[in-house]
Amino acid sequence: MAFDLTARLTSGLTQQKEQLLYRSRKVIDSPQGVELQCDGKPLLSFCSNDYLGLANHPALVKALKKGAERYGVGSGASHLITGHSYAHHALEEALAEFTQRPRALLFSSGYMANLGTISALSGKQDVIHEDRLNHASLMDAAKLSGATMRRYPHNDTEALNKRLEKSNHHHSFIITDAVFSMDGDIAPLPQLVKTASRHNAILMVDDAHGIGVIGKHGRGCIEHFGLNNDNVPILVGTLGKAFGTSGAFVAGSDELIETLIQRARTYIYTTALPPAIAHATLTSLKLIATEAWRREHLQTLIKRFRSGAQQLGLNLMPSTTPIQPLLIGDSCEAMYISEALQQQGILISAIRPPTVPDGTARLRIAFSANHSEQHIEQLLSVLDSVIKHDDK
Ligand SMILES: *Cc1c(COP(=O)(O)O)cnc(C)c1O
Repeated sequence: MAFDLTARLTSGLTQQKEQLLYRSRKVIDSPQGVELQCDGKPLLSFCSNDYLGLANHPALVKALKKGAERYGVGSGASHLITGHSYAHHALEEALAEFTQRPRALLFSSGYMANLGTISALSGKQDVIHEDRLNHASLMDAAKLSGATMRRYPHNDTEALNKRLEKSNHHHSFIITDAVFSMDGDIAPLPQLVKTASRHNAILMVDDAHGIGVIGKHGRGCIEHFGLNNDNVPILVGTLGKAFGTSGAFVAGSDELIETLIQRARTYIYTTALPPAIAHATLTSLKLIATEAWRREHLQTLIKRFRSGAQQLGLNLMPSTTPIQPLLIGDSCEAMYISEALQQQGILISAIRPPTVPDGTARLRIAFSANHSEQHIEQLLSVLDSVIKHDDK
C-alpha cells in the first residue's frame, strides 16, 4: 500500500486534539510588551520572557536601526566564512567582560547553543546527568551527543551524588537550568558545584532566565551564588529573554570557546545572526548594567503578587524569580482558566504536558519590569474572580 502521509498526519492531529494537547498560535499585532494587541483586542500580558522590558525599548530600536545602517540586514554567511562581523566580535568581548569569563561565543539561539555545545564536548564514552526538568534543548542535546543520558530528580543533589558514587565513570557532565523555565525556582548551584567537584564531573549551567534578571548587577545565578568560571566552567545565556533581542552565548575558558569554534556544528553550519542584532544587544548590556531599578522593580512586583496570591489562597509554586506559576493540575482546567482570563483582558498561557510533567498543568505567570503595581492588582482581582467561579 502507498504511504499515505496525510492520513498519518491527520490521525496524529486528531489524537493531539482528543488529548487536549493541541496547540495554536496567537497573532500579535503590536510590539512585544505588557499591553498587547491581539486579534484587534487589547490584552494585558503576563506571558513573555521580556523580563526587563527591553524588547521594545526605544534605545534598542534606535541601536538596531543604527546597526542596520552600518552593517546592513543579513550577515550573509556563517561565522567561519565571511559572516563574523565587527558587531559580533564586539558583543562577544562585552559578554565575556559582563560574565567575568575569559571568552564568550555567540550562537543564533539558545537551542542551537545547547545542541552545539553539548554535542561538541561529549560523546559515547561520557555520561550526562541532567535535572529532570531541564529545558528541552538540553535533553535533545544529550541525545544528539551519543553520551549516556541520565535524568536525576528535580534539584535533588543527594540522589545525584548517589548515582555518581555508584557509577565508576570517569567522564561525567552535570547539566542544569539555573532558573527552571516552567517552575521559576533556582537550581541549588553551590551544592551542584560541590557534587561536581567531589566526583570530578563538569558542571554546565544554562541561565537563560537568570541572566540580566538575577544578581545585583544582573550577571545571573552565577553572581547570585558567588560562583565563577572554575566551578561552573560552561555557562550558557540567551539574548531573546531579558536582553530583549535574539541569540545566545556560551561563556568560559579560551580552550572551551576555541573548541566550540572548531567543533560545534550548530555554530559552524549556520548563518551568523544579523550583525545589527548584535549591535543592538550592546545597548541591552548597557541598560542591564546601568538600570538596576528594572531588577528592583521586578522584586517589588513579585513580593506584591505573592502576598496577594497567598491571601486569595491561590496555589503558588515556590519561586523568587519573575516566573510565578500557579499550579492547576488538570490540563483541561488550566485551558479553561486561561480562556476565562483572556475574556477579562488578561493573557496568561496554560502550560501543559509534555512541556511539564503529567498532572501538573499550570498557568505560567511572568512579570516584566514594564508591569506596574496597578497591573498586579488587576491581575489578582481577575484571578480571584475567575478561579473562585471555577471552584463553584
Ligand atoms: C528559552 C530557553 C532556551 C532556548 O533559547 P532560545 O534562544 O529561545 O532558543 C534554552 N534554555 C532555556 C533554559 C530556555 O529557557
